[in-house]
Formats: sequence, structure tokens, C-alpha cells
Amino acid sequence: MPAYLDHAATTPLDPAVLEAMLPHLRDTYGNPSSGHAWGRAARAAVETAREQVAEALGVTPLEVLFTSGGTESDNIAVLGLARAARAAGRGAHVVTTAIEHRAVLAACEALRDREGFDLTVVAPGPDGVVDPERLLGAVRDDTVLVACMAANNEIGTVQPLAEIAPALRARGVALHVDAVQAFGRVPLDPSGWGVAGLALSAHKFCGPKGVGVLVLRRDVAVEPVQLGGGQERGIRSGTLDAPSIVGCGAAAALAVAAAPTEVPRLAALRDALREGLCVLDGVTLVGSAERRLPTNVAVAVAGCDGESLLAALDARGVAVSAGSACQSGAVRPSHVLTAIAADPGAGHLRLSLGRTTTAQDVATAVDAVHSAVALLRGAGGGFV
Ligand code: PLP
Repeated sequence: MPAYLDHAATTPLDPAVLEAMLPHLRDTYGNPSSGHAWGRAARAAVETAREQVAEALGVTPLEVLFTSGGTESDNIAVLGLARAARAAGRGAHVVTTAIEHRAVLAACEALRDREGFDLTVVAPGPDGVVDPERLLGAVRDDTVLVACMAANNEIGTVQPLAEIAPALRARGVALHVDAVQAFGRVPLDPSGWGVAGLALSAHKFCGPKGVGVLVLRRDVAVEPVQLGGGQERGIRSGTLDAPSIVGCGAAAALAVAAAPTEVPRLAALRDALREGLCVLDGVTLVGSAERRLPTNVAVAVAGCDGESLLAALDARGVAVSAGSACQSGAVRPSHVLTAIAADPGAGHLRLSLGRTTTAQDVATAVDAVHSAVALLRGAGGGFV
């Protein structure tokens, strides 16, 4: 039986989400910005989805903007918040962490390299968790933005936002949270944290690909990145993709409804998977065991190369990732593994679970990893 253990890369569309989308793909084809009945029907569907997302996150519908995905949400928040703050004369210093997704890191680097911002990139501890004191220690009087993810996409570590956010709020520094991997898996409290921005991507929680959310606090100024028709409060111009937005809303509601049963179920499967892998000599968990997504097992495999392991597992019908699938093709250790000083000689695998994952999938994956490691270590002349 094949086993898909790459839910951090993307998740299957939930059948109920597909059902919710179908009428809007088939019949409700009006432009949500049009003033006639066709447009109004599409607009109503979009606004229902906006309410679903707002309710799922405990924010108001006015704070929910729809985008094309996590990358766009991160870009709008990082570039837009920083540029607007500088234009208002508040400074030009940005702080982020070394383990952010490239959608955040590359935007921060562009601010530094092309627009003259100062950038401080804070390293996490060896456990892949950012020390709040270290992050807050990097904040200066001219800091306009701190970008810190809720949970890491490669090693699954959950960041201490409840400790970071209040201190930033007290200092009046905008916080952007990439919650793409965290939503539905760990509690998020954008209102309580007082975040300026928070990014989600529907395809990570059993919604469709190509649609995301940017939660944007109402009182923060943002310079739009994309100019045009002025949709989404003028911050994200472009005709709204109503069927995908409907799917995003339905998926968000389902994720929150499922979390009380799914999170403990997945955490138990995660622990079984980790135990099954770590009985092998030279296989160790990467990143904190405690501050970890219920859906992530990241391991270092001594004496094997990650890409070869991935291929050997693929041949056995098991889908995993060697590092971040968002940057696949790169054979170098990922920036996340480099940031936590992971052993460059070991192969690194990310196995990620989701709503369709069963105990059988875990057993299949454990067997496949055991046999792939034995094969590769044999081919390499034995494990030392
Ligand atoms: N941020 C994180 C933490 C991610 O894991 C990803 C995708 O893997 C993204 C952002 C980008 O999201 P999208 O694929 O919707 O552009």
C-alpha cells in the first residue's frame, strides 16, 4: 500500500471542500465585483468564506484578505508593512528568524539588498526554537517589523509566539506571523497576540491550491505590492477567485472543527512514527521533541544521503520530503538545517502527517525507511 507522508508540502482536497466548491466552479461564475445578480451571488459566497475564516481565527471578517497563497500573503505583509512604516518615518529596521520560509526571508533580504533597510536575522537554538529574549533583544528603536513564523515547515518546531507577541505589542512594533504550517495543528491567537499580519495557505489544510489568507489588523498601514482594481481593501488587487475562496473558507471551518480529535490522533501517530524510525542506529529526531507540530517527524539518518533516501522511499510507494519541498532541487542542506547546525554528513527526511494519515501509513513508512536505510548503508559499504 502506498503511503503519502508529505502533508507539509501539500494536503489532499477534503471531499466536503470539493463539494462546497463545485457549484461555484459550475454555476456562480459572476465576478464578485460586479453589481448584477451574477456578481452578487459570487460576492455572497466570498463573504461567507471570509466569515468562516474569521471565525476560525477569532478575528473580524474585515481583517481577512484573500490572496493567491502563503507566498503572496507573506510578501504583502513583509514588504507592505515595512515600506509603509518607513514612509511614515518610523524607521527602516526589520528583524526575522533564520528558519523562516523563503517567502518571508527572501522578502526581508530584498528590503535589505534593494531598498536599504537594515535586517537582523536571529538564529534559533539547536533545537530549532527561537529564544524570545534573543529575538526581542534584536529589536531597536527604529525597528518597524518583526517576522516570526508560528511553526517551521521543515523541522516542525513551534515558536513561542505567546511570549514574543506581548513584548512587541508593548513596544509598538508590528509582528507578522507565517502560520501556514501551524493552522489547524497548534492554537493561534492573532487577536490576543495583536499581530499586524498572519499568513495562511489553503492547500496546507485540505483546501485548494492557489488561495491563501492574509489577516491584517485594521489599524496598520500597508503599501500594496500589486496595483490594480483595488479589491481586498485596495491591498490585493485582482479579480477574486470565488470558487477557491469558497474552498478556503470551507476548509478552514473543517480544520477547526476537526482539530480537537485530529490533533491528539495525529500526535499519537507522529510519536509512533518517530519511535519506529529512531530504533534504527544513527537515526535521530531533528528539532525539539516538545515544541513540535503534531504532524511532523524530521529525522537525521547517519550514513545515508537524503535525496537517495527519498528516491528509495518513492520506489517503495512512500512519499516524504528531504528538507523543504518548496525548494526541492536544491541538494545543499536547507537554510533551516544550516541554521540549527544539523550534521551535514547525515541525510535529512521530513515525514508529515495529515487528516488522511492512518496507522497503516505509519507502519508502511517505518518498514520502508528501515529497508531503504539498510539498502543505502549496504551500498555505501556499511554504516560506521
Ligand atoms: N510559508 C510556509 C511556512 C510554508 O510551508 C509554505 C509552503 O510550503 C509557504 C509559506 C508558501 O505557501 P504557498 O505554497 O501557498 O505559496
